Amino acid sequence: MKIVVDYNLCESNARCVEAAPDVFEIRDDDRMYILNENPAVDQRHAVDTAVANCPRQALRLEE
Ligand code: SF4
Repeated sequence: MKIVVDYNLCESNARCVEAAPDVFEIRDDDRMYILNENPAVDQRHAVDTAVANCPRQALRLEE
């Protein structure tokens, strides 16, 4: 799986970080960074939750 973010939609509100802190991070520049674009299978549930919880629908997964 690969995580794709649309930075035109992302507003850095950190909902994805709450769901999957090993995968997403907000840095000092207030921008969201993906720490691992291709997370392991055991992170799938957390990543799915992050995608579902993003209020801007800025995240999607490619298989
Ligand atoms: S939850 Fe969505 S809008 Fe918020 S930081 Fe993550 S990708 Fe951006």
